[in-house]
Amino acid sequence: MVAKKMCKKCKRLVRGDKCPVCQTESLVETWKGRVIVIDPIKSDIAKKMKVDAAGEYALR
Ligand SMILES: [Zn+2]
Repeated sequence: MVAKKMCKKCKRLVRGDKCPVCQTESLVETWKGRVIVIDPIKSDIAKKMKVDAAGEYALR
């Protein structure tokens, strides 16, 4: 199993070497937790993390 990496810009968890959203290759391999945002409008965590799209994000 390949570990997912966290995009430094948007904190999204990505597979591979590039964030599909930011098109950046600045990814970090170490992150502590994972948040799955299904509905960013209703999610308090998404608001705290300033996340505006559904997806899988990492916590540091
Ligand atoms: Zn990104």
